[in-house]
Amino acid sequence: MSHADRVQTLQAAVKNARSPLSFRKGSASNTLRGEMASGKKIDLSSFNNILEINSEQRWALVEPRVSFYDLSLATLKEGLIPPVVPEFTSITVGGAVMGAALESSSHRFGQVSDTTLEYEVVLGSGEKVMASPSENADLFYGLSGSYGTLGILTTIKIQLIEAKPFVHLSYQSLSTKALLDFVCNPPNADFIEGVALGPEGGIAIAGQLTSEAKAPLYRQNHYWSPWYIQHLTQLKNTEEVMPLQDYLFRLDRGAFWVGRYVLRVRTLLQLLFKWGVPKISQKPPNPSWMLRLLFGGVFKSQKLYDIWHRIPTDISEKLFFIHDFYTPLEQVKSVYEKLVEETAIYPIWLCPVVGTSTPQILAPHYGKKNFLNIGVYGMLNNERPVHVITAELEKMILDHGGRKMLYSYTYYERDLFEEFYHEKTYRALRKNYQASLAFPHLYDKIVNFRG
Ligand SMILES: Cc1cc2nc3c(=O)[nH]c(=O)nc-3n(C[C@H](O)[C@H](O)[C@H](O)COP(=O)(O)OP(=O)(O)OC[C@H]3O[C@@H](n4cnc5c(N)ncnc54)[C@H](O)[C@@H]3O)c2cc1C
Repeated sequence: MSHADRVQTLQAAVKNARSPLSFRKGSASNTLRGEMASGKKIDLSSFNNILEINSEQRWALVEPRVSFYDLSLATLKEGLIPPVVPEFTSITVGGAVMGAALESSSHRFGQVSDTTLEYEVVLGSGEKVMASPSENADLFYGLSGSYGTLGILTTIKIQLIEAKPFVHLSYQSLSTKALLDFVCNPPNADFIEGVALGPEGGIAIAGQLTSEAKAPLYRQNHYWSPWYIQHLTQLKNTEEVMPLQDYLFRLDRGAFWVGRYVLRVRTLLQLLFKWGVPKISQKPPNPSWMLRLLFGGVFKSQKLYDIWHRIPTDISEKLFFIHDFYTPLEQVKSVYEKLVEETAIYPIWLCPVVGTSTPQILAPHYGKKNFLNIGVYGMLNNERPVHVITAELEKMILDHGGRKMLYSYTYYERDLFEEFYHEKTYRALRKNYQASLAFPHLYDKIVNFRG
């Protein structure tokens, strides 16, 4: 079936929907809460083709379910890569636009949505339109972070930049204060991130694309290799070189470090007997070489998501705290301290993101110059329920002029959400592009998804 045929079939399905649509949740979806339970489901899985790579003009035309892993493999053959490549192998180009994805090159390029040039979109009426900065520009920008509530992407034209075979990495062990300074005022480098390992501090990482390996080569290419977090904790102040593809997906095995919780006896008891198990104080352990050798394949992010989506949501949401908080730079100290005080979860991922002045009203990096994304992924050791703490911290980040990413569980009151997510403009977009004929409101999709 050609792309045009697939789009026609989709248009007909949307026209006949007559109820809020959502998309069939593939097991690999990186959105933790999953899709809306009610309404008709549409399967987009066949939209997984790379339609064109134009190496002269440096762009790729892809269908939305193409993963960044597959796209980068194809573009690397032309010596090119997308400017922002999210770190899990199964994150798709469409999902990254809809879910407002970022990575360690975001201090330069912003989010994935800042690197796209044009979309083909099927509207709630079934009509097909193009959206770009010069055509239906309000829709083009509004789609970023809209989680499929304004239209269905059927193609994405995305920029490409020059790739080099290696990334030269410099690691520095720093105190917490110096680490936050580093990520808020990053040096001139292609990739920047920080990982806070504990209350005393963590590791600052700067990466530079390079054609030659001028430091020891470090590879992450086997399923039994140590996870990147294990490798990081062994490093002090040093330099090394990674092949580009290994670097881009360095955090895939173990899904950053969330996979460590699968190895914790307490987690297994909680999953078996729900949350009413006695407190056994045990830090999530790192996987030994033996465990990696025997079960390494299970810890790829795709497999972990597969397991995740089999856990009933009422259990996973009571156990895990997995959130990203976009924080305006001037508020970083205060937000960081509050997150540590309430969650006591380490490591913490620190990734600077340049903000946008375009009308991406739903995206977390909208409206300010620069942000630090603070990623807190783990389980709480707190007497208070996870959803209560999450709701407080959601409010806290809004009060500090930031936003959290909306891929995880979300508890905002409707009024508060509408105030901070530009309800008037969003409603106008929904009306102009006939979204309510087929798609739920964003608030319902992220908060009332069980209904
Ligand atoms: C531990 C952890 C860490 C994370 N860290 C990061 C991080 O560092 N950087 C980052 O960017 N993200 C991170 N995420 C979040 C995740 O990567 C994003 O939510 C991402 O956007 C999901 O991509 P996906 O391809 O799986 O999208 P999906 O989950 O498949 O889809 C995302 C949303 O878009 C909708 N959708 C999908 N396809 C279409 C389409 N064609 N048209 C319209 N709507 C569509 C879906 O309905 C869904 O609501 C993290 C998640 C976890 C669990």
